[in-house]
Amino acid sequence: MNLHVLPAGPIQTNAYLLTAPERGEAVLIDAPGDVWADVAPILAKEKCKLTELWLTHGHWDHMQGGAEVVRASGAKVLAHADDRVLIERPEIMEKFMGEEMNLEAVKVDRWIAQGEKFAALGREVEVRHVPGHCPGNVLFYFAEAGAAFVGDALFNGSIGRVDFPGGDFATLESSIRAQIYTLPEKTVVFPGHGPKTTVVHERSTNPYVRG
Ligand SMILES: [Zn+2]
Ligand SMILES: [Zn+2]
Repeated sequence: MNLHVLPAGPIQTNAYLLTAPERGEAVLIDAPGDVWADVAPILAKEKCKLTELWLTHGHWDHMQGGAEVVRASGAKVLAHADDRVLIERPEIMEKFMGEEMNLEAVKVDRWIAQGEKFAALGREVEVRHVPGHCPGNVLFYFAEAGAAFVGDALFNGSIGRVDFPGGDFATLESSIRAQIYTLPEKTVVFPGHGPKTTVVHERSTNPYVRG
């Protein structure tokens, strides 16, 4: 499995493209604006078809490019139902931001839940619900690879903002403790913005939530 880190969109949101050339398949985690322009050449080069788009949460910067990705690839979209309103009615967030962004709704094909496990690219993936930054933030955990894609719950040396609608610090703090800090300590954490980190590093040094 190959990992391509593709920061895109107006606030450099990390999209993560996972490809399995031996299977001819790929999965995209989050779809910032215009990310398809970065994804398409990699798919062509590695001869992979994008089968799924996984949204870590429904904030505009993680789904602005989603409708385009789906149109171009036919990928099925997975997300958590607690962000349903954000994903299906992005104009609400647009109003909150006070900016005209012409956000396009993304149609979710399958709603995923806490603790769910499923197979992707020949590996097992576990879904963990990590609310607090927003109601429906999830992480995708690949135990075998020791990697967790956590959206905007936890960053390298920081945590997600809690001042958007549905955000709450106490909820985020308990989510991080219960769902991220309980992963094996060497697990590599891939956040929605900025550089990667590890569970043990954040547990011992994060200024907002210590383990
Ligand atoms: Zn966010
Ligand atoms: Zn974000």
